[in-house]
Amino acid sequence: MSRTVAKIAVSAATYWLDKPYDYLIPPELEEKARPGMRVHVPFSRGNRRTEGIILAVTEHSSYDQPLKAVLTVLDEEPVLSEKQLRLAFFMRERFFCTVYDAVRAMLPAGLWFDEEGRRRTRDKSIEMARLAIDPEEAEALRAAKSMRSPGQASILEQLCAFECVPSHDLLLHTGTKRNALKALEKAGAVELYQKEAYRRPQIHIGEKEPLPVLTPEQEKVFDGIDALAREDRAGAALLFGITGSGKTSVYIHLIARQLARGRAVILLVPEIALTPQMIQTFSSHFGDEVAVLHSSLSAGERYDEWKRVKTGKARVVIGTRSAVFAPADPLGLIIIDEEQEETYKSENIPRYNARDVAKYRCAKDGCLLLLGSATPDVVSMHSAMNGRYAYFELKNRFNERELPAVEIVDMKQELRGGNGGSISGHLREELQKNIERGEQSILFINRRGANRLISCGECGFVYKCPRCSVSLTYHSTNHRLLCHYCGYSQRPDEACPECGGALKYIGVGTQMVETELKELFPGVEVLRMDADTVAPAGSHEKLLDRFRNEKIPIMVGTQMVTKGLNFENVTLVGVISADQSLYAGNYRAGERSFSLITQVVGRSGRGEKPGRAVIQTFTPENETIVQAAKQDYPAFYRSEIEIRKLQHSPPFCELLAVTVSGMNEEHVYLACRAIRLRLEGILGKDQSAEILGPAPLSVVKVNNRYRYRTMIYGRQNAGLRGTVAGVVMEFCRDRQYADLAIYADNDPND
Ligand code: ADP
Ligand code: ZN
Repeated sequence: MSRTVAKIAVSAATYWLDKPYDYLIPPELEEKARPGMRVHVPFSRGNRRTEGIILAVTEHSSYDQPLKAVLTVLDEEPVLSEKQLRLAFFMRERFFCTVYDAVRAMLPAGLWFDEEGRRRTRDKSIEMARLAIDPEEAEALRAAKSMRSPGQASILEQLCAFECVPSHDLLLHTGTKRNALKALEKAGAVELYQKEAYRRPQIHIGEKEPLPVLTPEQEKVFDGIDALAREDRAGAALLFGITGSGKTSVYIHLIARQLARGRAVILLVPEIALTPQMIQTFSSHFGDEVAVLHSSLSAGERYDEWKRVKTGKARVVIGTRSAVFAPADPLGLIIIDEEQEETYKSENIPRYNARDVAKYRCAKDGCLLLLGSATPDVVSMHSAMNGRYAYFELKNRFNERELPAVEIVDMKQELRGGNGGSISGHLREELQKNIERGEQSILFINRRGANRLISCGECGFVYKCPRCSVSLTYHSTNHRLLCHYCGYSQRPDEACPECGGALKYIGVGTQMVETELKELFPGVEVLRMDADTVAPAGSHEKLLDRFRNEKIPIMVGTQMVTKGLNFENVTLVGVISADQSLYAGNYRAGERSFSLITQVVGRSGRGEKPGRAVIQTFTPENETIVQAAKQDYPAFYRSEIEIRKLQHSPPFCELLAVTVSGMNEEHVYLACRAIRLRLEGILGKDQSAEILGPAPLSVVKVNNRYRYRTMIYGRQNAGLRGTVAGVVMEFCRDRQYADLAIYADNDPND
């Protein structure tokens, strides 16, 4: 007897149990059930009702036990294509997640179901009204009604003029009640119907603007990339363009070309770069073709934007990391701007890297992946230098604008000279000049929040988080100490809780610099931008608008002020302390510092007036800082690649990690060591992989959980990943480690 069998990926399957499970499709569901649709199935011994997705429908099962049956089909249409289902399998293999983890990441949250199988958001539609009779008849009817039912008459008048109108607007404009409209419907004069509506983020789309006229240098780069993008072959290209060289203008032209060819484009940008300014720029060229996918949209908006992409109504997808899953098809090009940014790597399940997903999609769809950056990832640059990526350069700023003149200030000297503050004499003078000239300045602090520690002047006591191995940070806005890892907060005491000594507020943070500036320049307005001031939704944009429109003299901020911002009147940028990110104990530390400093400095002098920058540091001789000050990426790359070669770090090898976490530190450590030994046992003979650890993460305890890691350096391939996956599964299954969380990760950020 032939049976209909569905292969299903199940959400309740843990990593080590994850595989396609066979279920019978009962006859009454046979018509409805197709691959890419979600279902409810009974799972495991308890037959718990669980969500799953149909991967394939066949007639056979190699499972020798009686099959359980699918309970319900949740979707009416497939939510994922077969191509996307294959991507889920790629992600499982590459990023050590379950197929369902990958599936969930690909769908907008508005499409997820709750436990009862209810959708998070509904499709939205609006009621429309149109004439059901021809216009002459309607006109006659209007005249007849004008005395007794003026409401109905004015509805008919509107409909004669506008053909179809949303009912809501119709009633509003004519000032009539709904029963007037219903009466017309009943009389057969008006038809009411539902039209699909989209919740869209507020974007003002004005007149379509002509594409920017490219400079000869931009034109050449555009021609080269466009030629590759039109080959319909899988490939990758790196565009190295210094800040302000006009990469965005090149992207706009490339996108226009792909649209003309009937292809869709995905443009990924780092979280902080997706400003209204940026969306506005693209919307002014591509109008409603632009769909924005971003975490700060409401679930409804996100779902509707996704739907516009899926139905082909929007073919220019602009978004952050997860927009790489946008159902754009046929795909012509994926662009990743500021490709070195670590926000493209997810540190939550599934722990994917958007760049790898993009590469996979481009390979499967036969299209080009374009990586753009002013400070490329050293690994990407290496690929470009080896000819694995096509390589393009924009060496000049648009309009031949000079790069800012940069000065490095030695803060040790300042300290010796008696200045214990965070603003050097030189930076102070430059700020003064700008204030006098009515020009604006941006100061950058490489730390989150207010970041002040409270410490006892007598015994050295520092407030620590009871759940994490970090110090608490003081926030003056609410006079509380806060943990940036778990959110724990408490009030500070009047005196040291240990010895009763006087408490001191130390460290540099945005709040403190703000205070210092107000003392240095009384009466001058200072705008602060950090995680505290931008917490309410939309305040990020409001602050930037204020900075621009009110020409506020000084803006102080964290990472948020480094990227994408384009203010003509900003002619001075100050880096309060360039040292903080250099010693992060990660092979990318140098690259990150270089990138950060270059980006900040690049905010200066983007208008007519030349820009300046001041970099303050305790290590003025540091090579990375010197190179960043000169904005000399090629020099940085040359020295960095030598260091990587010596350290045997990427691109000369690749990195996998197995992380173990749990409440009992010793148990965590021992499990991590056992994993290391097990891996050595398997890979030991093979000289190509080096195994290190267990090492604590840079913050060892978060939320009472200790975290240790074993690292595997080697040439990555399916074999090595398979070995690591096998060991992780083995330990996950082992009862003695049941209290621990164990997972593998591909090139983690930490
Ligand atoms: P990047 O992304 O490389 O840092 P942008 O694309 O933001 O540089 O360009 C910097 C500035 O130069 C922007 O204000 C942009 O509008 C302007 N610009 C760049 N290229 C052109 C062009 N071809 N025509 C007009 N303006 C341009
Ligand atoms: Zn904490």
